[in-house]
Amino acid sequence: MRVLAIINQKGGVGKTTSCMNLGAALAEAGLRVLLVDLDPQAHLSISFDRMPAPGDPSIYSVLTGQHPLADVIQPTHREGLSIAPTNLDLTGAESELAGEIGRESLLRDALRDLAKTADAPDIVLLDCPPSLGTLSLNALVCADGVIVPLQAEFFALQGMAQLLDVLERVKRRLNPRLELVGILVGMYSRQRNLSREVVEELQRHFGEILLPTFVRVNVRLAEAPSHAQTIFEYAPESGAAQEFRELARELWRRIAGRELKSAVTKTAPKSIAKPAASPETKEQAAGADLP
Ligand code: ADP
Ligand code: MG
Repeated sequence: MRVLAIINQKGGVGKTTSCMNLGAALAEAGLRVLLVDLDPQAHLSISFDRMPAPGDPSIYSVLTGQHPLADVIQPTHREGLSIAPTNLDLTGAESELAGEIGRESLLRDALRDLAKTADAPDIVLLDCPPSLGTLSLNALVCADGVIVPLQAEFFALQGMAQLLDVLERVKRRLNPRLELVGILVGMYSRQRNLSREVVEELQRHFGEILLPTFVRVNVRLAEAPSHAQTIFEYAPESGAAQEFRELARELWRRIAGRELKSAVTKTAPKSIAKPAASPETKEQAAGADLP
């Protein structure tokens, strides 16, 4: 079981969108995927129409020791894709847990118990809240890897130094396995000089950590959750669906050291698999040539 935290303390950068659609792409390739909603805003749970009623089993009741994780997991409409949902109960968790000894390892313990069961997933994606408090710390303590979604906007790098510092300290003190697996550029627009300039700057800063496929601006990605669908049902032929398939392949390469087999490898066109080397190929990697 591999655990990836999708984290950025800024809101609106594409964490939930990435979690939902990367999860669906990995499940499409035959992996058993669990999505965990760690954001009290519950956008991920709402996007799958799985938000529990107040007081019902949820991530809040897991973190407060009322339920094992296995009891709150629900299937989604997609085969192989399940969710540990949350609701507004989680809003008070940061302050409620403040005095708790070992509060940063509650989720790690819950996942360890799940890993011993027959229902253990192959991969867990953690959708983090837009802050670096106890909930995000729980994600970093149990994760093998971190994915940082960034918007191709002028302020993309703002806050990154703080985030990288937190990652470094968690790695040193609490979780030596923690690795930055990839920076995921979202809401990219080839037409905008700004997007290109931001990407060049990110490339200079992060080199190969930058994932070579960018997610372009696509209104269908924003529309799909209101239909309780991932991009793979809502717009399966879209560039966005292809981009998330390719990102899933690259992530699996990075964390498992091998290729994703099955549907993903068969259907993704070869042209989007090239790593970015120059500004031209960067645009190709961004999906410019996709149908
Ligand atoms: P976060 O979880 O980091 O707050 P979201 O994933 O909720 O960010 O994304 C913020 C908003 O931007 C949402 O309304 C989402 O639908 C929209 N969005 C995300 N990625 C794209 C994209 N590539 N193109 C268009 N809209 C997007
Ligand atoms: Mg979110």
